[in-house]
Amino acid sequence: MIAPEPTLSDPLLTAEQIGKIVSSGSKRRYYRFRPAPFYGGIATADCVGCCLKCLFCWSWHILIQPEKTGHFYSPNEVIRNLLSIVRKKGFHQVRISGNEPTLHRAHLLEVLHLMPKEIRFILETNGILIGHDPSFAKDLSRFHNLYVRVSLKGSCPEDFMRLTGAKPEGFTLQMKALENLVREGVNCFPAAMTHFSSKEKILKLKQQLKEIRPDFVNLEEEELILYPFVAEHLQSAGLNWDDNSNLVKPR
Ligand code: SF4
Repeated sequence: MIAPEPTLSDPLLTAEQIGKIVSSGSKRRYYRFRPAPFYGGIATADCVGCCLKCLFCWSWHILIQPEKTGHFYSPNEVIRNLLSIVRKKGFHQVRISGNEPTLHRAHLLEVLHLMPKEIRFILETNGILIGHDPSFAKDLSRFHNLYVRVSLKGSCPEDFMRLTGAKPEGFTLQMKALENLVREGVNCFPAAMTHFSSKEKILKLKQQLKEIRPDFVNLEEEELILYPFVAEHLQSAGLNWDDNSNLVKPR
């Protein structure tokens, strides 16, 4: 008997559905505020809710029960918590990470608006919503202390589909996000989970990125962190990893 094809999720629809769960008026759900060692030291707000379900996601436990995780915070409360960490640790930068920060656009824009301009703000996103609506990139272009890190899920639409369980068009939206951000003059840079892509696919991706902006060829290749639950997800999806070959091997 032929196994039924798995149903692919629609990341835009998921963004709408999860967005409703993690938003309340101008508030957004967050599950922690912490100092983190990345980027040389950064105050971090970890938000709740995402429109993808990447098999390698380190915050899977948050992803799967957004309605039960964290608390709602207003933009002012987010700023207060982040700046308190900045002051205590002597940092000069903040970020929103954890899940997907763009799901509540008005909240995000208000946080950006309230953040002192001398603080560098790093927005870590999968870019789906910025790729879908060019006016999002235009809104972000007002903030000159903002750096947007778009994290590509794989090196091509097929990898994206396999790694996220979502429609492959999502990868096109991710690339489009970079195009939109560049066009609007937003500081941005690409990263990618390339661990499951062949060297040929990675090269092709770099070429495509170079066409968007020449320095994008130096994209950040993300590290795969094999938490036990990540290994389990990869195995159950039939994906094997091989640190040396950088190839996906169907089981
Ligand atoms: S986009 Fe990021 S937060 Fe969302 S599932 Fe993928 S890795 Fe996790």
